[in-house]
Amino acid sequence: MTFELPPLPYAKDALEPHISARTLDVHYEKHHKGYLAKLEQAIGGTPLAKLPLEDVICAPGDQHVFNLAAQVWNHSFYWRSLTPEGHSRPSGALAAAVRRGFGDLDSLLRELAAAANGEFGSGWAWLTKDAGGDLHVFSSDDAQNPVRSGLTPLLTIDVWEHAYYLDYQSEREKYVKAVVEELLDWRFAEKNYGD
Ligand code: MN
Repeated sequence: MTFELPPLPYAKDALEPHISARTLDVHYEKHHKGYLAKLEQAIGGTPLAKLPLEDVICAPGDQHVFNLAAQVWNHSFYWRSLTPEGHSRPSGALAAAVRRGFGDLDSLLRELAAAANGEFGSGWAWLTKDAGGDLHVFSSDDAQNPVRSGLTPLLTIDVWEHAYYLDYQSEREKYVKAVVEELLDWRFAEKNYGD
């Protein structure tokens, strides 16, 4: 791996008013880059440093290395799960999987919001698909990442306090509602789902 982050896929103020430029700046420049810098400190110059990030996440062993590698991956995926375009809806094979698993998109979004709001402490809410193409919504603690369980992530929502505290203070529900209703990128989810 290269120990470089992909650039943010939009300007730092592009998600306003739902997520402020100040939040995006601190979240990307301090938190995301901070995890990467600590990962480089932990594995730079070791054989792990030659592996793709996903392989570092799936490597058995060191919890500290896993936490850092997963947080780097999760944040890169989170930025791409959001879009300033907003209000897209799934189509094609993903739309069919939504109907099969949840009945309709609103039901899926309610479950995703409930998972995000119900996560106790720091973590992530995920929409994933399994090997059979069925969808699953759940939250994970701390840095946990579905790639390690063999699931394919489609979208994620960061519910660590640093993701929303500057904008919403303790009101995680308002942040989650804004993300779920205004910012999720269903074109990105479709690409991850495949045909
Ligand atoms: Mn974060």
